[in-house]
Amino acid sequence: MEPDKGFDTHVVHGSSMKDQFGSVTFPIYQTSTFRFESADHGAQCFAGANDDFIYTRINNPTVRELEKTIAMLENGFDGIATSSGMGAVNTVYMSFLEAGKHVICHETCYGPSRSMLENQYAKFGVQASFVDTSKIEEVRSAIKDNTVLIFLESPANPTVTVTDISAVAEVARQHDIPVCVDNTFCNIVLHSLTKSLNGHADVVAGMIVTKTEKLYKKLRPVMVGLGCCMDPNQAFLVRRGLKTLPLRVKQSQESAWKIAKFLEEHDKIAWIRYPGLASHPQHELCKRMMKGPGNMMSFGLRGGLEDGKRFLDSLKVCVLAVSLGGVETLIQHPASMTHAKLSPEARLAGGVSDDLVRLSVGIEDVDELIADLSQALEKI
Ligand SMILES: *Cc1c(COP(=O)(O)O)cnc(C)c1O
Repeated sequence: MEPDKGFDTHVVHGSSMKDQFGSVTFPIYQTSTFRFESADHGAQCFAGANDDFIYTRINNPTVRELEKTIAMLENGFDGIATSSGMGAVNTVYMSFLEAGKHVICHETCYGPSRSMLENQYAKFGVQASFVDTSKIEEVRSAIKDNTVLIFLESPANPTVTVTDISAVAEVARQHDIPVCVDNTFCNIVLHSLTKSLNGHADVVAGMIVTKTEKLYKKLRPVMVGLGCCMDPNQAFLVRRGLKTLPLRVKQSQESAWKIAKFLEEHDKIAWIRYPGLASHPQHELCKRMMKGPGNMMSFGLRGGLEDGKRFLDSLKVCVLAVSLGGVETLIQHPASMTHAKLSPEARLAGGVSDDLVRLSVGIEDVDELIADLSQALEKI
C-alpha cells in the first residue's frame, strides 16, 4: 500500500489500474477474448513479454483490478481470483499436494476443505492429518518428513477457536513448509470473497494472495488449468461490496458485541463463544492477533434439539441460512445443517456440539435484532 493512504482509503480507491475513459468506477469487461494488434503482439502476449490480456480464463481487466486491490490491502505480491472460495482452496491443494506427500489441516476447518482431502485427494495418494492447530504442540508433532503444506483457518468455523498464526508460521519456517491461512496473513492467504469482503450475500467468489512472485507464478497456472476463474460480473460486484467493508465491519462488530453481552447474561443460554468476551478461552490471543472481535459467534441453548428448532423457527428478523459476513444477520444450526454429514463423534471432536447455534451479525438495527432473539428465546 502507498504509505500515505490507509486501508479505508485504499478499499475505496483501489489499485492504480485505470480504464481509457477515466471511469471513476472500474467497468465490467464482458468479453471472453481480446484482440491482438498484430501477429507479433499475439506472440509476445503468449510469451509473457507484457501484461496484456489474452483470454478471460487467464486474465480479465475487471478481475485484474480486484486482484490487485485485494493484494495491496493484504500487503501481498499479487492476487489470483477464483470462481469461489473452494476454487481457491483447490488451487492451493493442487499446487502443493502430490502422491506420497502430506498436509496438516485444521481439524474443524470449513467442511468441504476437509472432505476434499479425505474423499478426493486421498484417491491420489495424498496423506492428511487433522489437528487442533490452536495447540502448537499438536502442529509440531504432526510434521513429517513429507509434509508439504500447513492449511489453517482462524478463527475456525463454526467453533470460533483461534490459532496463533505467528507461532505456527515459526514452526513451519523451521521445517521450510509453506503455510496457507484461510483468511489471514501468511505465505498464502485465501479468502472466500462470498463472505465479508463482498458482504451482500449476492456473489460466490474466492481469492488467493501470495507473499512472493515465486508462489504467484506457481499457483496462477494451476487456477487457469483448473478453470475456476472469476467472471468479470462477479469481480465487479465484489469490488463494489468491498468499498464498504470497513463500515460494515465496524457496524456489525459493534452490534455483535452488544448481542454477545445480551446472550451471555440470558438464562436460557448455556454457553457462548465470542472473541470479544473475556469468557472466550483465547480472549488474550484474540486481542493480540485480531484487529477486532468480529461479527461471528456460537452459542448453546440449555434445552435440547427440539428447543433449538423452536428457537430458530420463531426468529423474524434474523435469517435462517448458511454463509456469513453479509449485511443480513444469518443464523444456522451446524449439527443439522452444514455439519450434518459428519458422524456425531467427528462433530464432537471438532467442537460442534448438537446444541451449537452459529450467528453471523449483520448491519440491521441492533435493538431490533436483540428484541428478535429475546422473543424467540421466550418461546422455549
Ligand atoms: C465459505 C468458506 C469457504 C468456501 O467458500 P465458497 O466461496 O463458498 O466456495 C472456504 N473456507 C471458509 C473458512 C469459508 O467460510
